[in-house]
Amino acid sequence: MKGTEYMKVCVICDKCGKKHSVEIDLDQVDSYERGMGPEIFYEGEAEFICDGCNCGNKINVQIQASEYPEGDEIRVYNSFGSGGQIC
Ligand SMILES: [Zn+2]
Repeated sequence: MKGTEYMKVCVICDKCGKKHSVEIDLDQVDSYERGMGPEIFYEGEAEFICDGCNCGNKINVQIQASEYPEGDEIRVYNSFGSGGQIC
């Protein structure tokens, strides 16, 4: 990994259903050697207030993602949080 990674995720508000495109900064937390080199694991978190019509819902999403093989697209494999869901 070189510098800070981030990824764009789609988050849907639990309260009003509005979809948000959110950039989440990722921190490298682990890596494992595999057949085609290291699989790199990341975690990231975003918190924002939904700007949907009269919504004001507070959304917190946390994601776990991995990159394999190195240099490939980072994929979310687990997400949790409150107020919204990854879509
Ligand atoms: Zn909302």
